[in-house]
Amino acid sequence: MIKEIQLRILPEEAANEQALKTVLSRELALSVTDIHAVRILKRSIDARQRTIFVNLKVQAFIEEDPTTPAYQSVTYGDVSSGKPVVIVGAGPGGLFAALRAIELGLRPIVVERGKNVRERKKDIARISREHLVNPESNYSFGEGGAGAYSDGKLYTRSKKRGSVEKILNVFCQHGASPSILSDAHPHIGTDKLPRVIENMREQILRSGGEVHFETRMDRLIIRDNEVIGIETQTGETFMGPVILATGHSARDVYYYLYNAQIPIEAKGIAVGVRLEHPQQLIDQIQYHRKEGRGKYLPAAEYSFVTQVQGRGVYSFCMCPGGFVVPAASGPRQIVVNGMSPSNRGSYWSNSGMVVEIRPEDYPELMKGQEMKVPADSPLALMAFQERLEELCWLNGNQRQTAPSQRMDDFIHKRLSADLPATSYTPGVLSSPLHFWMPEFITHRLREGFRHFGKVSRGFLTNEALMIGVETRTSSPVRILRDKELLQHVTLRGLFPCGEGAGYAGGIVSAAIDGERCAEMVAELLK
Ligand code: FAD
Repeated sequence: MIKEIQLRILPEEAANEQALKTVLSRELALSVTDIHAVRILKRSIDARQRTIFVNLKVQAFIEEDPTTPAYQSVTYGDVSSGKPVVIVGAGPGGLFAALRAIELGLRPIVVERGKNVRERKKDIARISREHLVNPESNYSFGEGGAGAYSDGKLYTRSKKRGSVEKILNVFCQHGASPSILSDAHPHIGTDKLPRVIENMREQILRSGGEVHFETRMDRLIIRDNEVIGIETQTGETFMGPVILATGHSARDVYYYLYNAQIPIEAKGIAVGVRLEHPQQLIDQIQYHRKEGRGKYLPAAEYSFVTQVQGRGVYSFCMCPGGFVVPAASGPRQIVVNGMSPSNRGSYWSNSGMVVEIRPEDYPELMKGQEMKVPADSPLALMAFQERLEELCWLNGNQRQTAPSQRMDDFIHKRLSADLPATSYTPGVLSSPLHFWMPEFITHRLREGFRHFGKVSRGFLTNEALMIGVETRTSSPVRILRDKELLQHVTLRGLFPCGEGAGYAGGIVSAAIDGERCAEMVAELLK
């Protein structure tokens, strides 16, 4: 017999399956040995009060064993003689487009400018060790896209519940822990993601699809307002309708589209810094107790949002027990981001602390700087993003050493006399962020920090370090497409997809968009 039951229990009672069996035997008036297995369907932590509870929905297998896997599998057939679809970019958008294309009988040809996920790791290590950024292989470019060496947080604000569950199940089928199906805030962890991504690639190849690494799309092949293929940096061509899932860091793609007069528009983004605290401090604040999280609770998370002078100021992509990473994708840039391993065991927590900016803010953001593109250009906010990343690099001694400032010093416009230890391995140097970052951003960050410090006592502290600059929160450009057909507004056969096209923000939403684009290609080819 299988019984479904809701539990609200102490963290130690939810520590492992044995502890849960003990609780269930009590609740169901059974002997522990009668409960053969426990499957968690939903799990969340309620830390609003001093006593912390774990809320669980579980299935108890009474005198029987589970006979089905914890996740639902997709059957991938052989598509070697299917119609081709060219997918540019092997991030979550591109990979999920490819897998969905196989489900629909199409043959995906995936073209990725970067290296495979293992080779890529070496280039990522060189950024910290030698301060060298390979413009084709870095935290943004390479198999798995920006999602590969990330936190692998899989929560999304998407309301498409069915689609989200499908994506999570596909992740499980390729090696992610089934716990992502039950956790309120699921994440995979940067140590586990590469294997999952490799399994997806192996599935594409086994089904008769193709994956080409170190192959960059440089041009679309267009005939009579229809995209019929792509040309790569070597002049090689791949023919078929095109899903363009190149992410928000492929600036050359935006320049190409702009110069080729393919309609795009400017889109708002958010920029700021990474803020790093000792995780112990965040645990103390969020769990309301001096001893922090103790043995049974996960590294605590936070989320802040406020409005300052008409613009949102908020925490972004919080990584409990994580690391701040050098996420530049080219020379003359510093860009920071965050990631965490599956155990979220690092000494630090970090999050982006960012201010919303809109295309109309461009002239004010560029005050005192040379405006390389006119204010009404679709590339205006991208030009600002590039300039801020360059400014950061100049203030970082033209290396990946990130300009940084203690949080309270920033509030009081003081240069930090010294800096705390940090997880950012290329190193940090003390810099007056309040002075060289645009006032539009620093003023709002300052007010935002004051507010967050009031609602969460202890958060605004000089133990926290601001590390510059966080600029790649989403795409500064939207590639215009039809709402229903998902095809470009002027070009048939072109499907702008995922975060780079402006239709996703995060791994799960990019994956959902990838699936939808594959479905629309299948419609076109019917
Ligand atoms: P991308 O993942 O950016 O993939 C685009 C791919 O296209 C890249 O592999 C690139 O090399 C390739 N490409 C670009 N141009 C070309 C070309 N001309 N030819 C061929 N290939 C090309 N999101 C979350 O939801 N949770 C997280 O925890 C999280 N953490 C993150 C941590 C870090 C360090 C970073 C950088 C990002 C993180 N994100 C996270 C954001 C998330 O990774 C992105 O939202 C997501 O990867 C977007 O997917 P995408 O497929 O649209 O684009």
